[in-house]
Amino acid sequence: MIYLDHAATTPVKPPVLEAMLPYFTEYYGNPSSVYKLAQRNKKTLDDARAVVARHLGAEPKEIFFTSGGTEADNWAIKGIAAALKEKGNHIITTNIEHHAVLHPCQHLEKLGFDVTYLEVDGDGLVTPEQVEQAIRAETILISIMYANNEIGTIMPIAEIGTVARAHGVVFHTDAVQAVGHLPIDVKAENIDLLSLSGHKFYGPKGIGALYVRRGVKLPSFLHGGGQERGKRPGTENVPGIVGLATAIDLAYQDLAVKTARIKTLRDYLIDRIFERIPYCRLNGHRHQRLANNVNFSFDFVEGESLLLLLDIEGIAASSGSACTSGSLDPSHVLLALGLPHEQAHGSIRFTLGEDNTQAELDLVLDKLPVFVERMRSMSPLYEDFVQKNS
Ligand SMILES: *Cc1c(COP(=O)(O)O)cnc(C)c1O
Repeated sequence: MIYLDHAATTPVKPPVLEAMLPYFTEYYGNPSSVYKLAQRNKKTLDDARAVVARHLGAEPKEIFFTSGGTEADNWAIKGIAAALKEKGNHIITTNIEHHAVLHPCQHLEKLGFDVTYLEVDGDGLVTPEQVEQAIRAETILISIMYANNEIGTIMPIAEIGTVARAHGVVFHTDAVQAVGHLPIDVKAENIDLLSLSGHKFYGPKGIGALYVRRGVKLPSFLHGGGQERGKRPGTENVPGIVGLATAIDLAYQDLAVKTARIKTLRDYLIDRIFERIPYCRLNGHRHQRLANNVNFSFDFVEGESLLLLLDIEGIAASSGSACTSGSLDPSHVLLALGLPHEQAHGSIRFTLGEDNTQAELDLVLDKLPVFVERMRSMSPLYEDFVQKNS
C-alpha cells in the first residue's frame, strides 16, 4: 500500500509503541495513588509534560493533556466564551477552520455569541490587518488555525499574535497540523492557547494537549477529580501521554532535514502533476504551505471516484477532510477559496509522510493521469469543453 493520507492520521512509530507498552501491563498504577507503583507514574507524567512544554517554548504548568485535538479546541473556545462572557460576546475565527473549531463556534452562536468568520483569500490566507479590523470592544477570543488540514496553507500566526496581544484579546490556535511539523514558540508568537494532537505526528490516537498561557483564566472543561490540577479531571491516559511525549521528541529530532526531504518530494509530485495533467489547479498557497501537502482540483473529475480508483491500486489519499468525505457536501475549505462546486468536488489531497519515497510517487504519477483521462473521457461536459477550446 502507498499511504498518502498523513494529514488524516499517522501510524504510531515503533519507538513510540515501545515506550508505551510497559504502561499498559507493568506500570499500570494510577498516578493519584500513594504507593511507589503509582508515584512512579506521577513522575512519568511530569517528565512528559516537561517534554511537550519544551518543544513549544512553554512551561510544564501550561500544558494540560486532553483526549485529542477536538477536545482541546472545544475546551479553548467554550472555556474562554464562558470565562469572558461578561466582558463581551464576540469571537473571531476563519471560514476554513477544522470542524472541531467551527462547530463549537456555531454552538456558541446559538447561545447568543456573535462570531465573525474571516474570509480567506484564494490561497487560504487571512491577513493580520483583516484580524485587526474585525476586533471590537466586545471581542473576547481570536481562534485561527496554524496550518490548514486540507490545503496545507500556513497562517501568519506570529503576526496575528502580535495584533491579538496589542488589543488584549485572547488568541487560540488549532495547531494540530503544525505541531511536530513546524518549529513553534508560543511565547515569541504571542499565543495564549494552542491545541495539539498525538496522532498527527506518529503518536497514538485519543491523546492531545492544550497549552494555556499562565495568566489566562480557563475554566474546567470536565468536572471530577483533581487531575491536571483540577482543570481536566479523569484518570490520566498514562500510556497515551508517554506516547505523545515520545512522538513529539522524535518529531522535532532533525526536523529541518526531514522537512527538506518531504518538501522535495512534495514539489516533485506537484510539478509532475502540472506536467502530466491539463486543466488542474493546486489548492492552497504554493510556498506558504505544509511540507507534506499536495491538494489538486481536476476539472471534469469527481474526487470521490478518483479516490476509489486509486484505492484499487493500493493508494490511500483523501478528497478533503476525513470528516467530510463520505458526505456529498463539497469541502467548506475549498469553497472558501472561491472554487465552484464542480472544482471543489473534483479535488484530491495527498499528504506525505517520513517514509514515503519517490518511487511511490512515480507509481501514483503513472496511474493518476490515466484515471483522470478515463473519467474525463466519460464526461460529456469535457467533450464540449475540448471541442470549444481546440
Ligand atoms: C485532526 C485535526 C483535529 C482533530 O484532532 P483529533 O485528535 O483527531 O480530535 C483538529 N484540528 C485539525 C486541524 C486537525 O487536523
